[in-house]
Formats: sequence, C-alpha cells, structure tokens
Amino acid sequence: MAIISDDEGLEKRIKKNPIVKSETIEYDNTFESSIRPKDFDSYIGQTSLKETLKIILEAAKKRNKPLDHMLFYGPPGLGKTTIAGVIASQMGVEIKITSAPALERPRDIIGILMSLKGGEILFIDEIHRLNKVAEEILYPAMEDFTLDMTTGKTQTAKTLRIPLPKFTLIGATTKAGELSSPLRDRFGMIHRLEFYTIDELAQVVQRTAKILEIDITEEGAKAIAKRSRGTPRIANRLVKRVSDFAIVKYDGKINSEVANESLDILKIDEFGLDNTDRALLNLIIEKYDGGPVGVETIAAALSEDVRTIEDVCEPYLLQAGLLQRTPRGRKVSPEGYRHLGKNIPSLQTRLFDTED
Ligand code: ADP
Repeated sequence: MAIISDDEGLEKRIKKNPIVKSETIEYDNTFESSIRPKDFDSYIGQTSLKETLKIILEAAKKRNKPLDHMLFYGPPGLGKTTIAGVIASQMGVEIKITSAPALERPRDIIGILMSLKGGEILFIDEIHRLNKVAEEILYPAMEDFTLDMTTGKTQTAKTLRIPLPKFTLIGATTKAGELSSPLRDRFGMIHRLEFYTIDELAQVVQRTAKILEIDITEEGAKAIAKRSRGTPRIANRLVKRVSDFAIVKYDGKINSEVANESLDILKIDEFGLDNTDRALLNLIIEKYDGGPVGVETIAAALSEDVRTIEDVCEPYLLQAGLLQRTPRGRKVSPEGYRHLGKNIPSLQTRLFDTED
C-alpha cells in the first residue's frame, strides 16, 4: 500500500482536481503524428506481435472486457508507442501517454489514474524508471483497479480504497531487466520488439515518402533502409534529410545515387553507423586494444551519457555483430575491426583473453 501524504484534505483535493500534467498526456507533434501508423495494416513488420495482438483484441471485444496489461520492450524507435496507439484505435478507446520520469510525485500518477475512463489505455514510456512510490500505487491499480491510500498522521491514519475504472496499462521500456519483478509479473503479456529487416524498412521509407509527398524510387528507398540501423524512427529521419538534399542539389527525386551521396555527406556509413558509433568502436580498438572495457569508461571517454551508450548505440552494434558483450566489458568483434578497416589483433593477443 502506498503512503502518499499526511494531508487529510488530499482525497477531496484529488477528487476535485485530478492533477494531470499537460506534458504527460501530449501524444505527438505534427510530423510524428502524420507518419505514425494508426492501424495494423500500416504498422509494418513485427508480424508475430501483430498476429498475437489481433487475437487478444478480438477476444477482449467478444468478452467485452478490457485488455490485459501489456509490456513492450526493445531499443528506442522500434514502434512501442506506435503499437500502443494502434491497439487503442483498434479497440476504439482513448489512450493517455506519459513517461515514468514525468511521474515524479505520487499525485502525478494518482491524477492520471483518476482521470481514466473504463477501457482506456494508459501508456507509460520508460517504465523501468518509475520510482518506488509510483510503482506501489500502480500495483493495486493494475491488479484490483483500486487506489489504496493512507491519509492522516501516523496515529490517526486512515486507509482509503478508491475504485478505479477498468483500464489497460501498456508499459514500454528499453530495459526490461531493470523492471522490478512485482511490476513485471503484473503484465499479462510481455513482448520484445525486433529490429526491422531492410525490406520492412524500405516499406517504412516508401510509406513515409508517400505521406510527405516525396518522390522516391524503390532503389532509393532500399538505399535509405540499409543505413537505418533496423529502426523505423531512423528511417523516417533519414527520408527527410535525404529529401532536403535532393531538393537543394537535384530535382527533388530520390534514387539510390542521391540517397547514397547524401547519406555519405551525413557521415552515415553502409552499416548505418554514425560518428558516435564509429568513435565508440575506434576508442575500444585504439585505447583498449579492442577491449574488454566497461561501459562507464567508454561513456566518460566519449563524453556521452551511459544511458545513451547502452540504449541507443550498443543494441544495434551488438545486433550487427560489430561489438560483443563479455563478463569483463565490451569488445570489438573481428567484424568490427574489418568494418573500420583496422587490422585484427594477432591470435596470440587474443589467446590471453581467457574469459571469452
Ligand atoms: P518507440 O516507442 O519504440 O521508441 P515509436 O513508436 O515512437 O518508437 O516509433 C518511432 C517512429 O517510427 C514513429 O514515428 C513511427 O512513425 C515509426 N514506426 C515505428 N514502428 C513502425 C512500424 N511498424 N511501421 C511503420 N512505421 C513505424
């Protein structure tokens, strides 16, 4: 049970004025909103997720019950927020979007929970960053659809149990491992989103180009897809950058030559790596003999946040096989050396590395 305050008037105040920070329920800015898929057909890839969801949604509709709470995890930009929006629109319900760091004070989460209506979806991004108090408020809310609160001073403390409408919580995280197990256990469905294939990303590129009225060939779309690190958000960003380039330097049309030339100028290589990714690999090779080296050391040397390295850079470098994670830290793989055009260290050096 969450002890939220010793203020006896709190219950009345919450009932009168549920505090929902405006920024916590903003859904989209206009660019994102215009290209964000709203239904299963326009949500490209993630086939097994879509198949599972279609069945779950159909069953919930037939039973006339709200959906189970769901947790989506995976690197940023893979479509966790988007799929939550698709689920809401397929169910014909509202979605309220917030992020754990915005739920600092108990009244932030309480305000949102009390503003929900039956069947609505509450989406909490970065849910692994929820603080302990907010988490404890969520447990009975998720399990029994109640808010359990203690008000008053210690001796005169009163417990209030406020019923909530039956809602669905959708959590998203880049780090499922950092969720506490009581919270994780309260999700009826947990699904990991995968990186997208080049063909899928080419479809994302073509869809976005169509919406933004950008003229692009199939080969041009593929060229952008190849350098999008398996991530739709990056593919969308690159379409816009390449289109700017095509308008300024050419007639606006994107073919593979235009795409490749502009991506080279943007210093995004054939693997989709940017300057930071290359700096990371170079650092490990040149300063630490290829590793292993701890992520804190890497972050400090690159003047980057550990979170950025772990959440943004590493997942793709690991997936692309350029970086390896070992018990003693990160190591550049032979493929990573090759990609940067560096000589792979001799077998003798590598034999000393006993922990592989
Ligand atoms: P996440 O919440 O995982 O960080 P988002 O859901 O915000 O990622 O997606 C980032 C962008 O990528 C969105 O603007 C959306 O338009 C696009 N996108 C994500 N998934 C898909 C998909 N499956 N098909 C098409 N576009 C997608």
